[in-house]
Amino acid sequence: MSHNKETHVFQTEVKQLLKLMIHALYSNKEIFLRELISNSSDALDKLRFEMVSNDALSEGERDLVIQLDFDKEAKTITLRDNGIGMTRDEVIENIGTIANSGTKKFLEKMTGDQAKDSHLIGQFGVGFYSAFIVADKVTLRTRKAGTAADQGVEWVSAGDGEFTLETIEKAQKGTEIVLHLKDEMDEFLTDYRLKNIVTTYSDHINFPIQMLEEVSVAADNDEAEGEGEGEDKQTVTEKQWKQINKATAIWTQPKSSLNDEDYNNFYQTISHDFEKPMSVMHNKVEGTLEYISLLYIPSKAPFDLYDRDRRYGLKLYVKRVFIMDDAEHLMPAYLRFVRGVIDSNDLPLNVSREILQSNQVVDKIRSASVKRVLDQLAKLSKADDQTDYETFWDQFGQVLKEGLIEDYANREKLAKLMRFATTHTGDKAQRVSLDDYVSRMKESQEAIYFIVADKHTAALGSPHLEAFRKKGIEVLLLSDRIDEWLVAHLTEFDAKPLKSITQGDIKEFAEDEASLSDDEKKQRTDLVEKVKAALGDQVEEVKMTTRLTESPACIVAQEGGITPHMAKLMEQMGQAMPKIKPVLELNPDHALVKKLASLEDESKLKDWSLFLFEQAQLAEGDQLASPADFIKRVNNLLSSAQ
Ligand code: ADP
Ligand code: MG
Repeated sequence: MSHNKETHVFQTEVKQLLKLMIHALYSNKEIFLRELISNSSDALDKLRFEMVSNDALSEGERDLVIQLDFDKEAKTITLRDNGIGMTRDEVIENIGTIANSGTKKFLEKMTGDQAKDSHLIGQFGVGFYSAFIVADKVTLRTRKAGTAADQGVEWVSAGDGEFTLETIEKAQKGTEIVLHLKDEMDEFLTDYRLKNIVTTYSDHINFPIQMLEEVSVAADNDEAEGEGEGEDKQTVTEKQWKQINKATAIWTQPKSSLNDEDYNNFYQTISHDFEKPMSVMHNKVEGTLEYISLLYIPSKAPFDLYDRDRRYGLKLYVKRVFIMDDAEHLMPAYLRFVRGVIDSNDLPLNVSREILQSNQVVDKIRSASVKRVLDQLAKLSKADDQTDYETFWDQFGQVLKEGLIEDYANREKLAKLMRFATTHTGDKAQRVSLDDYVSRMKESQEAIYFIVADKHTAALGSPHLEAFRKKGIEVLLLSDRIDEWLVAHLTEFDAKPLKSITQGDIKEFAEDEASLSDDEKKQRTDLVEKVKAALGDQVEEVKMTTRLTESPACIVAQEGGITPHMAKLMEQMGQAMPKIKPVLELNPDHALVKKLASLEDESKLKDWSLFLFEQAQLAEGDQLASPADFIKRVNNLLSSAQ
C-alpha cells in the first residue's frame, strides 16, 4: 500500500444517491454504459478543444478513442479513454463530493417508480454514479493530459459511503474505469450484449468506440517455415481492437443517408431521454453563413423545465469541434425544450459564452433556428392528425406562452400556435386556436373575449359568462398561471382586440340599457345609490349590470386597471399591491335585487347589500374580509325569511 492513500467520505447526498443506484434502479440498468461512454466522449471533446491551442496535450497520440473490454473470469468491465483526464483535486471535486445542485433536486424528484426514476439519472448530471447499478466496486484510474506519468490518481469505492484515493503511475493520459460487477450482472459479460448496448445508445458518439475482436492473421514467418512445408498458409487467431459504433458526427451526414433510427439514437444520446423525439429538423445552410443545425422537439417535458437554474440550449460545435453544452444564446428561453446541435463554420474556435451573447453570427443562427422550430410547430398544429400537437401543447404549451411575452418579433406566429379552452365546448382538454375562435365570431362582435381565473372550473363557473352564454358569444377560459401576463402582451389578434369580460363595460350588451323607460331608469339609480351608501368605501362604484342573467351580482374590475386576479398573483409573488376597490354590478332582473329595492329598513338594506357584495366576491374565488360575519349575516337573513 502506498503512503499517499487517503480515505474520503462521500457527501450525505451522494450517499443517498448511491444507495438508490445500488438498491432501487434496476429497470434500464444498461444505461450505466451510456453514461460512462458519454463522460468519455465529453473528456475527448475537451481534449480535442484544448489541443487546438496546445498541441503538447496530445502526448503524441493522434487518435482519440474509447475502448471497452470485459473479463468473464474476473467479472469486470473496463472502459478506457485517452481524453483530458482528471487531476487529484478534480477527482475529489467531480466524483467525490457532488457540488452539483442537481443531486438534491434529483433526490427530491424520486418517485419510487423505478422506470421513471432511472430516466432521471442522466438528466441530473449524476451519470457517473450509475456505475453502481451494476458494480459493487468501481476502480477509476486517471491522469490529466499534459501532466507527468507519476501524477496518475486511483479512485476506488464500493459505493458504501467511502472512497479511497491514491497517486499512481499511469503511462497513458485519460481515464480508465473498471467495474467489478455484482454477482447477478453476468448478463453484461458477453460481446453481444455490450455491443448491442453501445449501438443502441451510443452509435453516434463522435469518437470510435472499440472492442477486442478475434481475427485470423497469417502466422509468423519463422514458425511457418520448415514445419509448414507444402501446406497452405498457416493462420493464428489474435485479438485486435475493432470499432463497433458509427462514430460519425450525424449532423454532417446527408439527410438521405440517415434514417429515423439514426436520428432517434442521436437524440437519446444528447438528451438522456428514453422517449423518441416528436420532430427532427436537420438543415445545412450555405452562403454568407455556413452552419448545420440538427434540432429536436422532444415528446416529453423534462422534469426541470421550470427550474430557474436548469441548463438549456443547444450543443455548439465549430467546424466539428465541440465547444460547449447548453449554449443558451442559441435558443430563446421559451424554446428551452429544444435539443440539438449547431455546428458553425464562421465562429472562432475560442468562442466563449460572453462572445456568444453579442455576436452577429450567433444572432443570425438563432433567429433562423427559432424560425425553423416555429415553422415546424405550425406544421404540426395544422396537421390532419392533431395528436402530436396536442401532446406537444400538453407538455410545452405553458413554456411556449412565455414567447408571447419575450419574443415580440414572432408574436403573430406564436399567437397562431396558442391553444385555449373556451366556452365553445367548456372542456379543458378541448382547446381551440385563435383562428378557430375568430372564424366563429359574430359579425358585430367587437373583441375576442376572455376570462382569467385560478382554475378552469372557476373560469367556467363565473357569473360573468352568463350574458355571453345567452348571446352565444364564445369566451376563452384562461387558467394557467402565465395567462394574466399573456393577455397583458397579446392585446390583439387578427386586428381584433382581446378583452377581459371581467373588466370595464362590454359593448356588445350596451343597447339593452337604452330600451329602458325613464321611470325604470330612475328606480335603478335610486337603488344603486342606496347600495353604494350601504357599502361605503368598500366599492369603487355600484352599477346595474348587463352581464348577468342568473346571478344577482358580480364584481368587475375597472377598464384599463390592474385586474384583481393579477393583483392576487403579484401578492403571491411577494409584491405589495395597493388595495383595488372593485365595481359591484347588480342584476336588476334578479328576485333578490328586486327585493332589495323594496327594503325600507336601513340596517336590513345594509345587510342585504353586504351579502350580495360578499357572494359576488366568493364567486370570483376571493377571500372574504370576515367569513364569520358573512355566515352571521346569512343566518340572520335565513331566519328572518321564516
Ligand atoms: P456530468 O457528465 O453530467 O457532468 P457525471 O456524473 O456523469 O456528470 O460526471 C461527473 C464529472 O466527472 C464530469 O463532469 C467530469 O468532470 C468527470 N468525469 C467523469 N468521467 C470522466 C472521464 N472519463 N474523463 C474525465 N472526466 C470525467
Ligand atoms: Mg455524464
